Amino acid sequence: MKSPWIRSKETRMTSYADFYRRSIDDREGFWREQADLIDWQQPFEQVCDHSHPPFARWFVGGATNLCHNAVDRHVKERGQQNALIFVSTETHQERIYSFAELHTEVQRMSASLLALGVKKGDRVLVYMPMIPEAAFAMLACARIGAIHSVVFGGFASVSLASRIDDAEPTVIVSADAGSRGGKVVAYKPLLDEAITLAAHKPKKVLMVDRGLAPFDRVEGRDEDYAALREQHRHAEVPCEWVESSHPSYTLYTSGTTGKPKGVQRDTGGYAVALAASMKHIFCGRAGETYFSTSDIGWVVGHSYIIYGPLIAGMATIMYEGLPIRPDAAIWWSLVEKYKVTVMFSAPTAVRVLKKQDPAALSKHDLSSLRALFLAGEPLDEPTAKWIAQSLGKPIIDNYWQTETGWPILTICNGIEQAPSKFGSPGKAVYGYDVKLLDEATGEELTGANQKGVVAIAGPLPPGCMQTVWRDDARFVKTYWSSIPGKQLYSTFDWGIRDEDGYFFILGRTDDVINVAGHRLGTREIEESIASHPAVAEVAVVGVADQLKGQVAMAFAVLRDPARAADDASAMKLEGEIMKTVDEQLGAVARPARVRFVSVLPKTRSGKLLRRAIQAVCEGRDPGDLTTMEDPAALQQVKDLVAH
Ligand code: ATP
Ligand code: MG
Repeated sequence: MKSPWIRSKETRMTSYADFYRRSIDDREGFWREQADLIDWQQPFEQVCDHSHPPFARWFVGGATNLCHNAVDRHVKERGQQNALIFVSTETHQERIYSFAELHTEVQRMSASLLALGVKKGDRVLVYMPMIPEAAFAMLACARIGAIHSVVFGGFASVSLASRIDDAEPTVIVSADAGSRGGKVVAYKPLLDEAITLAAHKPKKVLMVDRGLAPFDRVEGRDEDYAALREQHRHAEVPCEWVESSHPSYTLYTSGTTGKPKGVQRDTGGYAVALAASMKHIFCGRAGETYFSTSDIGWVVGHSYIIYGPLIAGMATIMYEGLPIRPDAAIWWSLVEKYKVTVMFSAPTAVRVLKKQDPAALSKHDLSSLRALFLAGEPLDEPTAKWIAQSLGKPIIDNYWQTETGWPILTICNGIEQAPSKFGSPGKAVYGYDVKLLDEATGEELTGANQKGVVAIAGPLPPGCMQTVWRDDARFVKTYWSSIPGKQLYSTFDWGIRDEDGYFFILGRTDDVINVAGHRLGTREIEESIASHPAVAEVAVVGVADQLKGQVAMAFAVLRDPARAADDASAMKLEGEIMKTVDEQLGAVARPARVRFVSVLPKTRSGKLLRRAIQAVCEGRDPGDLTTMEDPAALQQVKDLVAH
């Protein structure tokens, strides 16, 4: 069979081990070459300035622009090719913008923002559903040197208000409403309330009216985008060339382990990192179509809906809707229709599909698709096998964080084709000097199969966070202080590396369970429980126990809820699941209880909120829940614990 991976001439001769080694040992030479993947208006003077660790500046003195690299530079060669494909199964719209059209729309948006008084370095907060104007707004900010701060659409007014106060935006771009599962979610009342709550007041609010929810306009503050766009129909707004370290955006982490952190990203390093990842990791080529099912409110949306694919000259699909509406075949129908070659989603979305009829996945011609990339949460073996078999395509797990902006661990098929191992996101990605550290001593663990904290030796490679927005001290304290005296960035994840260099993420460092002196990752127990055929999804937390220190507690969602319809059948199933864990991991890992719920508490980005479950189980305050998706899910846990 012909290899589905396309490799360039210069990398065909290189083994991944050599490629990786060079990225660490000859950092400057390596990244100097990668920097050729983007356009520079002015060449950089220095590859990396690491004179004030842990801060790193990449491509110092170079001038570039993210929007130029994502849009303008493609107009000449592929102006008529698809750039942005907008599909909404909520409003039944489908609209394609070529690179030339995208170029025009971004300039109209840029001119509108300039007219509202936005200047280079100003912040623009984007509180939008998944509509093309959201992409125009992000790209327009990059174009004029403004810093965007995208806040996930539908966040409640309190969370929005705190982000307004943190970003202090000159302008907020928003829309009348989003839509989810056919239900209109009005944004404007939430936004108005947030602005009332916030200490900082934006000068202007730019409103995109989708005609979904009528809204009140604040005189003198709210502007209508349709009118401004018309006024600037023929606008020509040149790109503002910025120094490589100029911040392109700020973005918050998911808030899974506590209060979200505001990540600040640069321009040049990010553009280079994304361009390189499109080539070496995703193997996407100009003229092809990329489909990421994430949302612009998350880092995957920034890197792999908007900037990455466009920088690579690919068309990108922007999808507004659910994965199972009108039916579970919707994504795959888009793969067929737009000949998607690279797809990116999350294990949590795959688990949603897993509960549906598997026939939906085989209805469409998926021959264009090379691979499905998954990230965001541990990919358990049953889910990975199910989706791999259903699609008949390689499934590529990749591990990273909002902070890093692009993968830390994966398989770089663009360099050397390598097999995946179930349960492992793969090896350290070029540029990342990944270490495993003993949690107690901070000593580096070099042997195979030792458990430790996943850390990265500084400097972080290009594209990673520059600092915490407006809080250098928090950046140093949060990420770089766990091992005193060492320049090591902690991921706060716990992992293991096997003899072949493949990593396995065992859970968050917060989620390590200590049962009678045995240290277990929640992930290991979850994986074992998920292998029981009745289980669709599970969360395991450690709960304080007088006798054992801690015990594991499991909350599972069943594929067929009827399996636990009454107490007797629930108890029988609980026993069966415990037996599975006993057999696979040993009795020490056996959860004290396995309880059944219809839905698990998650962040809006789809991550399990284990800390909230744990707090409820221990009768504590669950802390910051502003990023939680569905409060009813935590209530179910509370009810079970109370009985
Ligand atoms: P916060 O930092 O606010 O608590 P968060 O860590 O969930 O939230 P993100 O940056 O969205 O915010 O998520 C990154 C985290 O997601 C990683 O640190 C890791 O715990 C988890 N993760 C991401 N991808 C994978 C993967 N492929 N396998 C296992 N875990 C993953
Ligand atoms: Mg995190």
